[in-house]
Amino acid sequence: MASIFSKIAAGEIPSYKVAETDNCFAFLDINPVVRGHVLCIPKKEVDYIFDLDDDLYNDLQAFTHRVARAVKQVCPCRKVGMAVLGLEVPHAHIHLIPMQNEGDMNFHHHVKLTDEEFRTLADQLAKAFR
Ligand code: AMP
Repeated sequence: MASIFSKIAAGEIPSYKVAETDNCFAFLDINPVVRGHVLCIPKKEVDYIFDLDDDLYNDLQAFTHRVARAVKQVCPCRKVGMAVLGLEVPHAHIHLIPMQNEGDMNFHHHVKLTDEEFRTLADQLAKAFR
């Protein structure tokens, strides 16, 4: 059975899409630790990020780089943090988190956004993605 993230990348279930290339997809985390929390995934379903072959791993990192620049442009922050956990969803993904301080990389803290706020943010990020 396809993972929830495969279904998101295929457009079979909705997401707040930020960016897409041939091999990768980025969307807003539905339970963000801060506003601007984005997930970057390979479209190919591989559970563990370090099991990706070199080409796809490098492609995902280059894509994440571009998405992070968009996040930095749209979300006021000192730096954009990057993290890999993958303990919940068995489809490789990179978390991008705009940080004001180290405490913003706290996966036990969450903020609530309205549907409208998610939509607006995804739209701003999509426009900033180059
Ligand atoms: P982890 O596998 O531990 O890196 O965490 C998975 C992340 O995916 C969590 O931050 C969830 O909030 C996020 N997540 C799970 N389902 C969805 C979804 N349908 N849309 C967006 N984000 C999701």
